[in-house]
Amino acid sequence: MALIRLQNIGKIYVSEGNVAVGIRGVNLSFHRGEFVAITGKSGSGKSTLLNVISGMDTYEEGELYVNGEATSHYLQKDWEEYRKKYISFIFQDYNIVESFTVLENVELALMHIDDRRERRRRAMELIRRVGLEGHIRHKGSQLSGGQKQRTVIARALAKDSPILLADEPTGNLDSQTSKEILALLREISHDKLVIIVTHNFDQVEEYATRHVRIFDGAVESDHILQNVEEKEETAPVDVYENLANKAGRALKNGTLLGWVRFKSKPKLSFFLTVLLCLAVLAASLVTALSGEAYALFEKRYMFTPMEGRTVIARKDGAVMTGEELKALASKVGAKEYWQNDYLLDYTLSKYFPDYGTFLEFVCEYDSELVPDVGRLPEKVNEVMLSLPIGMQPYFGKEELKEEAFSGAFIGIDYTVVGVHYFYDNTKPAKLIFTEEGYRFASFAAIYDSMRYSSGVSATLLVSESFSGGGSASHSLPFNMDSILVSFAMEPGTYGVLGTSFDDPMASFRENAEKDADYRYTVTGEMTGRYTEKGYEGYYDYPIYYADVEIGPGQDKLIRKSFEGYRYCDELPNDVQLSPSYDYGNSVLVVSPDLWVDFMENYNAVTYTQASLFFQDDEEAHGKIELLRDLGYVAVTSDSTVEADGYEMILAVLTSLFAAVSWLLAMVFIALFLNLCSGRAMMASSGDVAIMRSMGIPVRVIRISVYVQTLFSLLPAFFVSAAVFILIYLFPETNRFFMFLHAREYIFVALGVILIALLMSRRFVRKLFGNSVKKALKGEAEK
Ligand code: ADP
Ligand code: MG
Repeated sequence: MALIRLQNIGKIYVSEGNVAVGIRGVNLSFHRGEFVAITGKSGSGKSTLLNVISGMDTYEEGELYVNGEATSHYLQKDWEEYRKKYISFIFQDYNIVESFTVLENVELALMHIDDRRERRRRAMELIRRVGLEGHIRHKGSQLSGGQKQRTVIARALAKDSPILLADEPTGNLDSQTSKEILALLREISHDKLVIIVTHNFDQVEEYATRHVRIFDGAVESDHILQNVEEKEETAPVDVYENLANKAGRALKNGTLLGWVRFKSKPKLSFFLTVLLCLAVLAASLVTALSGEAYALFEKRYMFTPMEGRTVIARKDGAVMTGEELKALASKVGAKEYWQNDYLLDYTLSKYFPDYGTFLEFVCEYDSELVPDVGRLPEKVNEVMLSLPIGMQPYFGKEELKEEAFSGAFIGIDYTVVGVHYFYDNTKPAKLIFTEEGYRFASFAAIYDSMRYSSGVSATLLVSESFSGGGSASHSLPFNMDSILVSFAMEPGTYGVLGTSFDDPMASFRENAEKDADYRYTVTGEMTGRYTEKGYEGYYDYPIYYADVEIGPGQDKLIRKSFEGYRYCDELPNDVQLSPSYDYGNSVLVVSPDLWVDFMENYNAVTYTQASLFFQDDEEAHGKIELLRDLGYVAVTSDSTVEADGYEMILAVLTSLFAAVSWLLAMVFIALFLNLCSGRAMMASSGDVAIMRSMGIPVRVIRISVYVQTLFSLLPAFFVSAAVFILIYLFPETNRFFMFLHAREYIFVALGVILIALLMSRRFVRKLFGNSVKKALKGEAEK
C-alpha cells in the first residue's frame, strides 16, 4: 500500500473573479524510501502539489489517501493532526521565525525531547550538518537567504517524520552547499518519502529515485530512475505526540514556547507591558474612585457594636445610680457595667495643621497594643494614636512629629506619647487612653455633648478685709467658655488666668501689695443647669433613638461649691490658653480632679444611659426581654438603624451609577487595550502559521499566546506595585488610594488578567481560523 496516493486530484484557485487552475487530474502514488524529484516550468503547479500533499492547502477534486485512508472529509483539526504525524516541510520562501535565533528555530522542532541537554545536543548536531555552527545565536532576521534556507532544512530534519517535502530547497545555495544538502536529504530518505521540487534536475539526478514532470497542472511524465525496495507501510510514529497529549505537558511546552516568544520580541513585549501597566493603573484608579459609593449600603449601628454590649436606660427616663446598676448587672448576669458609656459611641475630629488633614478618632483604652513609635500612655492626659497604616507617611515611624493634642474636649490639652499602626486602612483611627484617662475623657465628652442643652458657669466669691477695718465682697462670674481644665494644675486647686485686658483679680493683688494687713479669700461654686424641656434630641446622643419618654419640664440645677479646694494666686507657668481657643478675657482654671468631682455630681443627675456587657451578643439578645420586664429600655449594640425609603433609593441609585461607570471604564480600558495591542499581536501571526505548518500542536501554540500575554502582565504588576508604593510615599495622593483593601487590588489585578486573556483568546481565534497556507501568506491579517 502506498504511503500517499493522489487520485484525480484537482485544485482551483478562485480570487476576485479570477479562476486559476493549480493542478488537475493528478494520479500519483508515493512510497517510503522514494526520493522524488518534481520538475516543471514556473507556474505549472509544483508548489500547489506539495501544498496539497502536506495538507497545508485544501483540494477540491479527487481524493488523497494517506496510508489508505481517504482525507476528503478532513476538517482543519484533522489536517493539523495529519501534519503533526507525517509532514516536514522545507519552504521555498524559508518560513523561518525571524525573531527566533537559529538555535531556537531548530529547537522549536525538537520540543518533543523533554531533556533540555539532549534537545540542545541534537539541535547543535543538525546545525553543524547544515554548516551553521557559527550562527547559532543569530536571529532569523539577520541571516542571508542561504543561511535561512539551511536553518529551515535543519529544522525540517529535526522533526523525524515519515514525509519530507521540499520546495526548491537549494534555490538559494551555492552548488557545493547544494550538493551537501542533497546528499544529506538522500541519506535520510532511506526510510522516508522525500519529495523535492526543483528547476535544476541535473543537480538532483544523482540522488533521485524517481522523476515527475508537471506541465500546466497535470502530470506530464513519471519515470522511475532507481528501484526502491517496497516497504510494508505501518502507521507512523507520532513524534510530537508527547507535546500535548496531557494537559500538563501542553502547559509546560506552551509556557516554554510562550517564554521564548516573549523574549524574542522585546519591543512587542515592552509595548504590551507598558500598555498593561496603564491598564492596571487605570483600573485601580477607577475602582478606588467608585469604592465610596457602596458605603451607603453598609450596616449602620445605633451604637458602636461591641461583643455582648447592651445599652440600657430606665423607661421612666430617670438617672440610674451606681448601686442600682451594680445590682442590676448581677441580677441579669452581666459580667461588667459601664455607667458613663458615652465615649463608647463618640468620635472625635481633630485637625492636624502639620499634615493638613482631619482625622476622626474612636476612643478606647487598650493596654495590649504595642506602640510602633513612642510608648503607651501612662497619665490621664496622655494618649497614643492608633492609626491605619496609610497614615504612616503623615505620622512617621521613627519619632513623634506632633506631640500636642490640644483642643480635644472643652479645650483639654493632651500629649501624644506614642503611635501604633494597624493594617486596615478602612477602619477609623483610634485614640488610646489609660483606663483612668478614658474615664476622664468620658466625663469631658459627655459634658461636651450636653453643652447645647445645658450650661455650666462658675462664680468666685472674693471677700476682702482691710487694715483700716471694714470688708467687702464681690462675685466674679465665669461662663462655660471661660472655664478651663488644666493638667498642669496641682490636684485640688483652682485659679484665675487673666489676660492683659481683663484680670479680675488684679485689683486685689494690688491692694495686697500696698496693705500689709490686707486679706482676701476666694471661694466659689460651679453650677450646671441641665434642661430637657422641649428638647428634641441631639442626634449624637444615642439613647434618643430608643423610645425613652422624657418627663415634662425636667429642669435640674447641679451645684458644687469649691469647698476643700485651694485657690492659687500663682498659676504654674505652663498653664496657658490653648491657641485654638479664644477665651477673650479671663478664665477660671481648674485642676482635673475638681472637674471630675463636678462632673460626677453632674452626671449623677443627668446621665440616663449605661451599658451592660454580657459574655457575647447571643447572650445579650437573650437578656433583652428580661431587662424590659425589669423596667428598662434595652438595645443590643449590634442593632442596626434601617435606612429610610429615600435613603435607600439614593443608595441604590448612587451605587448603580457607580457600578455602571465602573463597568464603562473597564470596557473602555479593554477596548483601548484591544485597539492598541491587536495590530501588534497580529504582527506575529506569521510565526504562528509557521509553527502550525511544522505540526506543533495547536494546543501548545495557543497556550504560548496566553503565556506571552501573562509574561507581559507580570512586569505590569511589579510596576503598578511600585507606583502604589510611590503613591503611599506621597501622602497627598493617598486621598484616592489609601482606602482600598488589598483584596480590591487583587480584584483589579484579576480583572486585568481576565481582560488580557480574553484579548488573547480573540487573537488565538483569529490565528487559527484560516488554513495554514493562507496564514503563511499573511491573509489572516485581513
Ligand atoms: P509553481 O510552484 O510550479 O511555480 P504554483 O503551484 O505556485 O506553480 O502555481 C500554479 C498555478 O496556480 C499558477 O497559475 C498560479 O498562478 C496559481 N496559483 C498558485 N497559488 C495561487 C493563489 N494563492 N491564488 C491564485 N492562484 C494561485
Ligand atoms: Mg513554486
